[in-house]
Amino acid sequence: MEKWGYGGDNGPSMWHIVEGGAYPVAVEGNRQSPIDVQTNKVEVCDELGELKYMYDPKNCMSVENTGSSWKVNVNSDGSRIDALLSCIKKPREKTNLSGGPLGNDKYQLAQFHAHWGGENGRGSEHTVDGKMFSAELHLVHYNVKYGSFGEAADKPDGLAVLGMLIKVGAEHAEFGKLCDLLRKIPKKGDKVDICAPMDPANFLPRNKSYYTYEGSLTTPPLFESVTWILFKQPIEVSQAQIRFMRDLKFGDDHSERMCDNYRPPCPLKGRVVRTPKWL
Ligand SMILES: [Zn+2]
Repeated sequence: MEKWGYGGDNGPSMWHIVEGGAYPVAVEGNRQSPIDVQTNKVEVCDELGELKYMYDPKNCMSVENTGSSWKVNVNSDGSRIDALLSCIKKPREKTNLSGGPLGNDKYQLAQFHAHWGGENGRGSEHTVDGKMFSAELHLVHYNVKYGSFGEAADKPDGLAVLGMLIKVGAEHAEFGKLCDLLRKIPKKGDKVDICAPMDPANFLPRNKSYYTYEGSLTTPPLFESVTWILFKQPIEVSQAQIRFMRDLKFGDDHSERMCDNYRPPCPLKGRVVRTPKWL
């Protein structure tokens, strides 16, 4: 049996016992993700403010096929040019995410990736009142007080993920830039540099209201370190655009098409989902 994946013998229901690396926290953990958001139980919260975010489009460096998704790697130490000029020029202010449930802590974008289904109407990880969407985009940030993604990844307040639910509809201009690159990384391990700037802020929906709760990574090692911020308003990509994701392969040319790479909702185990009062 292979290591964890999304197949019948190594998929999410087997992650706590899968050979070649078992993750008991998958069933024993108390803050596993994703979850089903039950809107009638969401706590409206006065103290939750607006999110503050600032991204530099030049920091999106490369996109790779990881064998479980595509992943855009983001330079967390400033842009390429800043890195080159750092000895003679003061680096510009670092990009970051703060506010909302994160308060004054600053979180730096490290990577983004997605989960999607083989057919429209399934593929998101979070569900809302039991409703699943066709895909879900994750912008993964780490708390800069830990110095690096690796140091932050297993701390209770180490990571913050912005989740965008995706439905199939209108074409998405920023996502289109990504689709052009996905064609070049069909197989596991394929990787290409990103030359044209890509702005992560353009993936956020127009309405910035959100649900938030304390959760985990949704792939092994399933660290319980994520403050989840799931936007209420879905974003849209076109049918042609979602096909670019479904045309990726889990492995080599002869392997299955990369689809249904999502973990289903986990038990809440007493957690409360909160939403800001202002919207
Ligand atoms: Zn994810």
